[in-house]
Amino acid sequence: MGIDKLHRLTNSKRSRIILALDFNIPRTEDILSLVENKVVGLKIGLPFILSEGLSSTKNLLEKWSEKFYFIADFKLADIPEIMAEELKLISDIGFDAAIIHLFQGGVSRALTGLRLDIIGIAMMSHPESIRFEPLFDDLIAEAVFSGAVGVVIGASKTGYIRRTRKIAGRSLLIFSPGIGVQGAPYGSAISAGADYEIIGRSITLSSNPGEEARKAAEAGWSNG
Ligand code: C5P
Repeated sequence: MGIDKLHRLTNSKRSRIILALDFNIPRTEDILSLVENKVVGLKIGLPFILSEGLSSTKNLLEKWSEKFYFIADFKLADIPEIMAEELKLISDIGFDAAIIHLFQGGVSRALTGLRLDIIGIAMMSHPESIRFEPLFDDLIAEAVFSGAVGVVIGASKTGYIRRTRKIAGRSLLIFSPGIGVQGAPYGSAISAGADYEIIGRSITLSSNPGEEARKAAEAGWSNG
């Protein structure tokens, strides 16, 4: 499965950085060439696909499939029967993993026969995300029960990163966004126990994306 690919890329690049591609970033391929040695995965959001188009996204995935672990971030939350179809189509595009919500439950029923890694959202980082707090332990249980490879927890929520380790041990990878532009320093989520840091604009909008990715990878690797 894709998770072996993620581990292989992590070890060979000595990096725990996932690059977030959210907007129609000019010179996407130039940026990928500059960061490819220090970024292990690409998280592609809905705005990117809606503006780039499906066929050019497919071409991008095909061209770079050996170099990056591809995560579709559409934050799905439908009933299991519909989600199963959505995930199959995402897998057909060439993605290795998809980010989905967990609060709706029934996730395991959406995953039967699927060749795609699932990453569940356990905690977001915007102010209203306090709504996740009473549900948190349940969301982690849903992730473990459904066989998700990991969860997303914002880098500012270090208490929840630690709590996940306490509840789920090493059975879930922790992916942490909110680094750089949103305030958390490079390496800080990994210091708190996360496995991967998701970084977008600090790298994609930098005048020197290669150097920025190198700094982020180094901070994450030495704190890991
Ligand atoms: O550009 P920036 O580094 O802020 O990008 C962060 C990425 O992580 C975006 O794709 C955003 O949707 C995502 N994200 C987040 N906070 C969460 C969950 C996801 O910023 N708690």
